[in-house]
Amino acid sequence: MEQETRELRRVGLKVTHPRMRILQIFEEEGVQHLTAEDVYKKLLAEQEDIGLATVYRVLTQFEAAGIVVKHNFEGGQAVYELDRGKHHDHMIDVDSGKVIEFVSEEIERLQQEIAAKHGYVLEDHSLVLYVRPKNKAR
Ligand SMILES: [Zn+2]
Repeated sequence: MEQETRELRRVGLKVTHPRMRILQIFEEEGVQHLTAEDVYKKLLAEQEDIGLATVYRVLTQFEAAGIVVKHNFEGGQAVYELDRGKHHDHMIDVDSGKVIEFVSEEIERLQQEIAAKHGYVLEDHSLVLYVRPKNKAR
C-alpha cells in the first residue's frame, strides 16, 4: 500500500482507490502484460466495483505519467505493462495471445551496426515476433 501511495504521489497523481488497486494488480508477482479487460476481470474477481471505463481512464493516466507502457501488438487489444525502465523485446503467441519477453545482445548489436552502416545512431527500437508453438507450426 505504502509503495503504491508513494509511486502515485511521485508522478503527481492523487491517491484514489481505483488507482491504488490497479497499480497493485500490476505489481503482483508474475504479472507483466495485461489488457484493460484483464485488469477489469482481476478487479471483479476481487469483488472490486471498478468499471471498465474507469480502468481505461486510469491506464491512460498511468501511461501519461510514465508508470506503464502501452503496446499495440497486431491482432489484439492494447497491452499494458509497468515501465521498469529496462529494455526488452516481445514475442506474441498468435494462438493464445500470450506475451513473452526476451533480450538478445546479438540483435541489439546488429541493429546498431545496421543503423551505423546507414550513417545513423540507433535511438530506440521495438521488435515484436509473432510466433506459434513448435508442435503446432504449419
Ligand atoms: Zn514487456
